[in-house]
Amino acid sequence: MQVIIGRGVNDDGLSLLVPEHYSMVSRKHAIVEIGEDVMTFEDSSSNGSWVNGVPVRKKQISDGDLIMLGDKDNGYRLDIHLVKQKIEAYKNKNRIDFSSEFKTLKLVYNNYNNASNQIKKKYKSKTSLPQILFSVAGMILFFALGQVFDIPPQIGMFFYIAVPTIAVFLFSLKQDSNAMQRELLLTKHNLAKEYLCPKCRKPLNIDLPIEILEQEKTCPHKCGAIYIP
Ligand SMILES: [Zn+2]
Repeated sequence: MQVIIGRGVNDDGLSLLVPEHYSMVSRKHAIVEIGEDVMTFEDSSSNGSWVNGVPVRKKQISDGDLIMLGDKDNGYRLDIHLVKQKIEAYKNKNRIDFSSEFKTLKLVYNNYNNASNQIKKKYKSKTSLPQILFSVAGMILFFALGQVFDIPPQIGMFFYIAVPTIAVFLFSLKQDSNAMQRELLLTKHNLAKEYLCPKCRKPLNIDLPIEILEQEKTCPHKCGAIYIP
């Protein structure tokens, strides 16, 4: 595949735009052809190009080569990685079947759900200890008050139930739920960074069940990516 390089090309598709202030670079300065095994550089400019300090018209190049356009020392330095990125982006743009990447998305989604459940479980078990302690306190109170004041069991039972419930609610539940919310948000934030459409790179909603994406089969942003063929 070929990428055209110059000051007068569009910066999309298979062309790489050189910034305007490199006035020594031609509008269409050179073409880089990337094949299976070989890369070829071909100059078509008025001021010329240099590969590793040697002026060239057409030459086979490799990754580590120093390629200068327009001037040997002060010209535009061509980054081969940028050229390769252009080709990758172009291939992605014209590809529609993203079913293999969708499997990775599914993993991200499952990881998020598992992590969320773990966090909820952790805080659930955290609140059970104070609950037991307050229940014991409530029972002791029930017996003590029952003994001293000769209270009917119905009213004693009220203490037994109300003391642990209210206390747990006031002292532990609220604090724990704040901490839990923070942890849940952090987990979501971290995994949402990876939960993107593989084609258009726009974020997908990690709170929506993945089954909805599976039913729709395509990107919700309408970029044309197909997740399930
Ligand atoms: Zn998309």
